[in-house]
This record gives sequence, C-alpha cells and structure tokens, in this order.
Amino acid sequence: MTVPLIDPFQRAISYLRVSVTDRCDFRCVYCMSENMTFLPKKELLTLEELDRMCTTFIGMGVEKLRITGGEPLVRRGIMSFFQAMTRHLDSGALKELTLTTNGSQLEKYAADLFAAGVRRINVSLDTLDEEKFAQVTRWGRLAQVLRGIDAAQAVGLRVKLNAVALKGFNESELFTLTEWCAARDCDLTWIEVMPMGDLGNEDRLDQYWSLKDLRARLRERYTVTDIALRTGGPARYVRLEETGQKIGFITPLTHNFCESCNRVRLTCTGELYMCLGQEDMADLRGPLRASAENDVLENAIRAAIALKPKGHDFDYSRQRADGQMTRHMSHTGG
Ligand code: SAM
Ligand code: SF4
Repeated sequence: MTVPLIDPFQRAISYLRVSVTDRCDFRCVYCMSENMTFLPKKELLTLEELDRMCTTFIGMGVEKLRITGGEPLVRRGIMSFFQAMTRHLDSGALKELTLTTNGSQLEKYAADLFAAGVRRINVSLDTLDEEKFAQVTRWGRLAQVLRGIDAAQAVGLRVKLNAVALKGFNESELFTLTEWCAARDCDLTWIEVMPMGDLGNEDRLDQYWSLKDLRARLRERYTVTDIALRTGGPARYVRLEETGQKIGFITPLTHNFCESCNRVRLTCTGELYMCLGQEDMADLRGPLRASAENDVLENAIRAAIALKPKGHDFDYSRQRADGQMTRHMSHTGG
C-alpha cells in the first residue's frame, strides 16, 4: 500500500462513497424534480473504470466503500461490479462494502449482494403509508420496497432505515416508524433535509423539520439516552431504554459534524467531491483515462485530498436556505 490519504486538517480519508448512476426509478420530492435531465450514458465511467477507480482508492487506504446514486441498483450490470469488489474484501484491504438504496430492486438482488460480501445496507424510507409514499417518491410503490426489505433480511443483510424528517409529512409517523423498526430489528436514522438542487416549487424551509424537535418528541414516549457510539459517519445516536433500540440523527443543519469527516464522494462521471456541502471538485476521469498506469490518477487523488475543505456552510438559521447547493443529491450520492 502507498502512503495513506490525510487531508490538510489531519483527517484520514478511509471512506469512499461512489455514485454509480444519476438515474433513478423514483422522483423523491426533496431530491429530484419530476422532469430530470440525466447525463448521457457516454459521460459515465464504465463499470471497469469504476472498478479501477475504487481499486486505486483502496490501495491508498480506503477501507469502506458505499455504493449509491441515483439508485445504484438500476445501473445495468451493477451486480458484476459488486462481485468484482469482493476480491478486496477477501484480501482484507476493504473492510466494508455497502450500499444506500431506495429498496425497489432489493427483492431481485438481495441474495447476490449478500453473496458478494455485503452485510449491511441502508434503505431510504420516509413513510409507511402507501399513499404518502407514492406522494413523496412520486413514482415509487411502498409494497415493492417492503418486499425488498423482507428479501434483504431473509438473506441475512442487516437493514438500516434512513428517513428524511419532513415537516407536516412524517412528523405524525415518528412513533409508527420507530415501532416498526423495533419490531423488525432494523436500525433507524433520521436525516435533516439539505438544500441540494433546485427543485422548482419545493421550498426547503417548508420541508425542514429540525431533529432537535424530533428528539424532544421522542422523549414524550421514551427514555432517550445519548450513546457514545460513533460509526465514523456524521450520525449521532441515542438509545430508547424501553425498546433497547438505537436511533441515529444526521443533523447537518443543527450540528456541524465536519471535524471528524473521513469521506469523499465520487460521482458517476468521475468527479471527486471532497465535501458534500461545497462546490469544489476534482476531475478524476481525465487522469484515469490519461494513462493505463495508476501514477497519474494517484497524483490527482492526492492533489484533490489536499484541497478538502474544513466543512460545509449549510445554514437555515437566518430563515433562508444558506449554503444552497445547485447540485442534486442524486449527482453526488447521498
Ligand atoms: N436512491 C438511493 C436512496 O434513495 O437511498 C441512494 C441515493 S439517495 C440520493 C441517498 C439518500 O439521500 C437518501 O436517503 C435520500 O433520502 C437522501 N436525500 C436525497 N435528497 C436529500 C436532501 N435534499 N436532504 C437530505 N437527504 C436527502
Ligand atoms: Fe431516487 Fe434516492 Fe433521490 Fe429518491 S432519494 S429520487 S430514491 S436517488
């Protein structure tokens, strides 16, 4: 292995999130507009290029790989990419291969994912109400996702639900979702809505439900204890004493978690974003294609990491969506 990746703030970069497609079979209201224009296929890194890119990062100290999108499981041939990454798990260089998915294709792929070495997955699910699910995803069907979660658990994948906290939308389901997860032995993490992408009519401040408020609501029914658990990510955890359940909170807006950030994000076109909340990025597709040897690519990766900023600037406190990103979440991968 070469020298590990350390950024200017002495954070070791050991976690790479890879968006393998910007396309999706859903159109979640906080993520995409209904009429999205997607990248032409020729702009995308091929699966072989994605493999080379990830392999290079792993050689430079990345130990955790999260595949995301868009919806990663709608990319054609994606299972062969997962299968190819198994060799890095087998060698011990990669400690975890995982993905974030909307769950729509899980029924089909759960067994293959497990066979490729995936053990834990994040499934995004904001509501257990069929109509509300159709409303928030625009194109999704709840039953299909629930079958996907069943299939995942049946093959032994540990499932964590990610729910975006949406004012006036899933506030009323706080306890239903909590109880459903307890009964299914799923972890649950709440995410504050972030100002990503111009969504036309959707107003960020209207969607925003602070997790401070959500946590206070949990206290109405449960004894909530802060726990020190850190998974290397931005989530902070509490335990509900009555159920023993762990609930995570990702609060980019009420709590800045950047000091411990160990991650970078690669888009499906080979752009490396050093921070989800900043516009700076480095093109890695050019260096990748410039030479069959990895030196040019490795140098470009090191140069990019040297520019990793200290943190993001999201801020709603002045009743405006400050730090608004023009990129959609599906571009950088959530
Ligand atoms: N399609 C997959 C899924 O939905 O899980 C993976 C990609 S999606 C962009 C990743 C995560 O980003 C999802 O959990 C989604 O809820 C979240 N997300 C999308 N837009 C968001 C926003 N504006 N604010 C906060 N989370 C967002
Ligand atoms: Fe698709 Fe995920 Fe974005 Fe929803 S959040 S539109 S499922 S990429």
